[in-house]
Amino acid sequence: MQQQHIPDLKAYREQAVAWLAEHAPRFAGAAREGRSGEEDLQLARDWQALKAKHGYAGITLPREYGGAGRTELEKIVFSEEEMRYDLPLLYFSVSLSNPVPIMLRHAPEDYRRRLGPPAIRGEHIWCQLFSEPAAGTDLAALRLRAERRGDGWVLNGQKVWTSWAQVADWGVVIARTDPTVPKHAGLTYFFLDMKTPGITVRPIRRLVNEPDLNEVFFDDVFIPDVQRLGGVGQGFKVAVETLMIERYAVTDESGYGPTLEAFVELARHSRINGRPALEDGEVRTAIAQAFVERQGLRSIHRRAVTAMAAGKEPGPEGAIRKLLLGRTRQRLGALALDLRGANGARFNPDASQVTDFARSWMDPSLRIAGGTDEVLINTLAERILGLPQDYRPDKGLPFNQS
Ligand SMILES: Cc1cc2nc3c(=O)[nH]c(=O)nc-3n(C[C@H](O)[C@H](O)[C@H](O)COP(=O)(O)OP(=O)(O)OC[C@H]3O[C@@H](n4cnc5c(N)ncnc54)[C@H](O)[C@@H]3O)c2cc1C
Repeated sequence: MQQQHIPDLKAYREQAVAWLAEHAPRFAGAAREGRSGEEDLQLARDWQALKAKHGYAGITLPREYGGAGRTELEKIVFSEEEMRYDLPLLYFSVSLSNPVPIMLRHAPEDYRRRLGPPAIRGEHIWCQLFSEPAAGTDLAALRLRAERRGDGWVLNGQKVWTSWAQVADWGVVIARTDPTVPKHAGLTYFFLDMKTPGITVRPIRRLVNEPDLNEVFFDDVFIPDVQRLGGVGQGFKVAVETLMIERYAVTDESGYGPTLEAFVELARHSRINGRPALEDGEVRTAIAQAFVERQGLRSIHRRAVTAMAAGKEPGPEGAIRKLLLGRTRQRLGALALDLRGANGARFNPDASQVTDFARSWMDPSLRIAGGTDEVLINTLAERILGLPQDYRPDKGLPFNQS
């Protein structure tokens, strides 16, 4: 990685903290209560537009396409501070992390200028159509077919787990253009208008009532060749590039579940055998363990940021952080439900996963999306312990013979 200009992060953080304190409360926490899904989405769009106006949206994206043209470190600093509020950020979490940046790297110039600014202002949402029923971890096993027709391609097949497809205006999609070559070699990458005839989006009902996931069906969907990102057969390479864009995602504990402090508060006000739960040995052990893990995670985070500031690539720290955060969150959630006794089983469908233990316990998505726990363990085994790679029996075989 090239040494980049190191900004004054302390000053940037102070600016961000002050700006957030002035504006975020109108869009966060109590301001979101009682709103319908559409109203919350509108609030999210308004927040995104306000950030864009003040240079806090698309922080690392080029200015000529509507971004702020700043460094990754500034983006990390802003995210750390922004995550302290319960803001409606999820609708844009996929859109602006991966599909929009990859489109801005590879699409023809007129598309970049036309589609970049409205996406960064929150007027458009982009989705990422990668996973399929038989292709998740093993993305290269995907089966959605794209066949040449005239000056474009016709797509047939299915995607699944597509976040926010039901409200998406545009999407990026990987399809199989040649099944006669090994699986990684026969894929091609496109972007498409989600209103294209032949696309059907069906919502997936989730246990926690989160309205984010969908199945997406493609029936003779035509995509002009000009909307190809990268070369024919280069789709896997572009997919990996897409997933690597966020070299280091800020997965701070405050953004994914109730804080350790919230758990301590709950333990202070709950009773076990007539005594405050905070005096119970098992509860105290859980608190101590979560605290030690949190300190470790914060150190790992600081180390990664320091390495990036020195112009180095972040290591596999992200994998450790995500693995531990997902597990700690569910462990504390389970214990919180025990402490609440019969009340623990009451599920409030309007609660936020950031403040509600029941919801955070029931939602395992942090342990699946962006790499499952088992796959992260593989990453750590291979990249830190230097263990041999997973056995890959279909390596080198044509896709249609594997
Ligand atoms: C909330 C959420 C949002 C998502 N949003 C999107 C989206 O917007 N776009 C999109 O394309 N996808 C999305 N996904 C899908 C996500 O990328 C996949 O769920 C993930 O890649 C895992 O794939 P899978 O579900 O097919 O599970 P599989 O890959 O089939 O895995 C099943 C089980 O096998 C284990 N396993 C698999 N391979 C190995 C291995 N090599 N070694 C050990 N264990 C292994 C896994 O850990 C898991 O326990 C989303 C998922 C969630 C939960």
